[in-house]
Amino acid sequence: MQSFTYHCPTEVIFGRDAENAVAEKLRAFGASRVLILYGSGSAERSGLLSHIEKNLTSAGLAFLVMGGVRPNPRVSFVREAIREGLAADVNFILAVGGGSVIDSAKAVAHGIANPGTDIWDIWTHKAELAKTMPFGAVLTIPAAGSEMSDSAVLTNEDTGQKRGLNSPLNRPKIAFMNPVLAFTLPREQIAAGAADIMMHTMERWFTSVREPNVLTDRIAAQLLLTVMESVRRLLISRKDYDAMSELMWAGSLSHCGLTELGRRKDFSVHKLGHELSARYDATHAQTLTALWGAWARYVYKYDPARFAQFAHAIFGVDAGTDEERARAGIRKMEEFFAAIGMPSSLAGLGIGTLTKGMIEELASAATAGDTVTLGDFHPLRRADVIAIYEAANH
Ligand code: NAP
Ligand code: FE
Repeated sequence: MQSFTYHCPTEVIFGRDAENAVAEKLRAFGASRVLILYGSGSAERSGLLSHIEKNLTSAGLAFLVMGGVRPNPRVSFVREAIREGLAADVNFILAVGGGSVIDSAKAVAHGIANPGTDIWDIWTHKAELAKTMPFGAVLTIPAAGSEMSDSAVLTNEDTGQKRGLNSPLNRPKIAFMNPVLAFTLPREQIAAGAADIMMHTMERWFTSVREPNVLTDRIAAQLLLTVMESVRRLLISRKDYDAMSELMWAGSLSHCGLTELGRRKDFSVHKLGHELSARYDATHAQTLTALWGAWARYVYKYDPARFAQFAHAIFGVDAGTDEERARAGIRKMEEFFAAIGMPSSLAGLGIGTLTKGMIEELASAATAGDTVTLGDFHPLRRADVIAIYEAANH
């Protein structure tokens, strides 16, 4: 087993009515004036927002509410929320929603704790992130895993960039997870969430580490199998509490670092997907499944045995050479994504076919003009990125 350090400090309140503990728990973190952030309205329509407001009011906590976070969250909203939060002197940020709202809350917390520094400068490492303030999440969609992750992703609509920031300061203090809150999700969002959860684990399975990390691999494989079983059940019955519970917890575990111990992260498919989301506002998980097969076929030859292990662990593929098993596993994963309604090529994103010029531009942006490589399994240069986008461009 490879050496590692692991610290995931987020307190988790999981189960039916988890959100009823919001006021009591936030108070324990010193909250007295809370900035609540939410998205485009699902939390209002479900009554969750007013329920949380009542919970805070009855405990005597003051709060300010700001809605309007959109999928692929924008830095302009974050800047406005930082101004509002500073003016109201809030001391806790509470996200009510999914990855987009939680990532915005992380950025708002960092911005309020570092007044005078533009949040995008922190995001692009022009300014250091040395401190933040307490924040937490009431999760409404199992997907991004931001409720326990050390990362956050923002889009700068002025520069056309979507960028992630990794920092231990991105770990929420607390996450409230009630699977019932996700019962209002449309099927496409359930499938997209499941695919994102899977990709967070797969982007940690395929790394350059060759030494065995048996327990990490087994946790990863069982997590993937649990997600695949749960999403199939949920696409038949969206209010299956047990299946939604498994999916929700898998979402958190897939991105809290547990499936990475002794390994590394690749995340090149995420980075290539971010370029598509930044330019075309494409749904995060759809960009991932649209690119994964093309990425996998491009890189598997650098370690077919690792792909063969994957095919065995997830699909029970045993026959043939490493190469044959690797290819069978890639095909079966694409078939699974298709079965849950996720795209397996760029055409499925509804953005049409990309021109050669567009692909070159995307590849330049992803590799900062061929000055950085992407990923760890097989580091990708600009030419590799072009080949992968081209292979997915149908
Ligand atoms: P999301 O963008 O937060 O939400 C997707 C959609 O689902 C929104 O339209 C939202 O509507 C709706 N929704 C959420 N909960 C709902 C509910 N209970 N009922 C009905 N509709 C609901 O989804 P996400 O996949 O969690 O987050 C995606 C973002 O996270 C992307 O920007 C991605 O890049 C990022 N990401 C972050 C991390 C990380 O670790 N930080 C990891 C992976 C991805 P409302 O707006 O109306 O609520
Ligand atoms: Fe993701």
